Amino acid sequence: MTAVHEATAAATTTIAPHGGTLVNRFADETEAARLKSRAASLPVIELDARQISDIELIATGAASPLQGFLTRSDYTSVVHDLRLANGLPWSIPITLAVSEEKSKELKLDGEVALVSPAGTLVAVLTVRDIFTYDREVEAANVYGTTEQAHPGVAALYSQPNILIGGEITVLDLPKHDDFPEYYLSPAQTRAIFAERGWRTVVGFQTRNPVHRAHEYLQKVALEMVDGLLLHPLVGQTKGDDIPADVRMRCYRVLLDNYYPLDRTLLAVNPAAMRYAGPREAIFHALIRKNYGCTHFIVGRDHAGVGNYYGTYDAQQIFNRFTAEEIGIVPLKFEHTFWCSKCGSMASTKSCPHGAEDRIILSGTKVREMLRAGEIPPVEFTRPEVASVLIEAMKNG
Ligand code: ADP
Repeated sequence: MTAVHEATAAATTTIAPHGGTLVNRFADETEAARLKSRAASLPVIELDARQISDIELIATGAASPLQGFLTRSDYTSVVHDLRLANGLPWSIPITLAVSEEKSKELKLDGEVALVSPAGTLVAVLTVRDIFTYDREVEAANVYGTTEQAHPGVAALYSQPNILIGGEITVLDLPKHDDFPEYYLSPAQTRAIFAERGWRTVVGFQTRNPVHRAHEYLQKVALEMVDGLLLHPLVGQTKGDDIPADVRMRCYRVLLDNYYPLDRTLLAVNPAAMRYAGPREAIFHALIRKNYGCTHFIVGRDHAGVGNYYGTYDAQQIFNRFTAEEIGIVPLKFEHTFWCSKCGSMASTKSCPHGAEDRIILSGTKVREMLRAGEIPPVEFTRPEVASVLIEAMKNG
């Protein structure tokens, strides 16, 4: 490539981050030294796993334009109108909840040290707002239910009842022991896309082991764009979801055998799962836009749990915004399945046959088979993937 071509590729590969600028909330050396020396005299908040994930998203710019935890005006606007106070679409409240007792130690415009459960200093937050909130209103608006049985609602109800908002400066994120090489920041994925000359990139979100329907969606999309960012979510998930390290092993065997490696990038999304269905689909899309994706796959019941959301609610919610506001293009897929008559993956959009010809297995059924050491039908999952899962279940 000539220098001119390289410059053009770099300019055209990347979509602008949400809000226009890729946020970077890591302290530079001088700032880090200043904050470390002050930290001992600051009030301390101990973070949980989800808050640490949120801090990673904010610090690396994955949650651009957020500079920290939501202040009151942004929080209210996000909960009620799916927008930040400045009007920019934003669907999930990224909040920091503290007890009333702790809130009394805090002063407006003062600083607070955010520490990991191991006691290391992760970040310093400048307190811009200390406010109460109504968990039921947040649950009803964000999750569409106030039922405690919903895992996102249960997490929300277990939070203390004061929120603090303000920008953060990050010193040191806890190290990732598992698959550290897959934690690429938005700046890194954007650089890789540019280097590979990918002008259009589709992002794929998942929290489940990869199966044939996933592969089908990814490959149909790959027929239309230059590159695929496989971006499994590896932050906190509910207890009965398959652990991230097992899911990553599944991806490795699949990639090695069935994917064009020059058009595929596997990296991880450090976010915690909220199970907020449609609202989370918007959040997932905006995050992937920040990682540099131009397109994003939204299939059936995206980020859903139980029967809380309609099959295509997570697609319809995009209609509440203009295409320009969201920026990244949602690629909406019908429920797909293996059709025995077609002899291929299909959906009712592309296949005329009846339900009796479809191979659709419930997650529960598949888990039962795997636990019994049985390989599910190849039309449902690749045998290489099934072997990884069977092995993991034996050892787990
Ligand atoms: P999540 O809960 O984050 O949506 P999943 O792993 O369940 O994670 O799904 C990943 C993506 O694949 C989502 O966009 C989902 O809608 C889509 N998807 C999963 N299975 C199917 C299917 N059989 N047909 C169409 N889309 C699907």
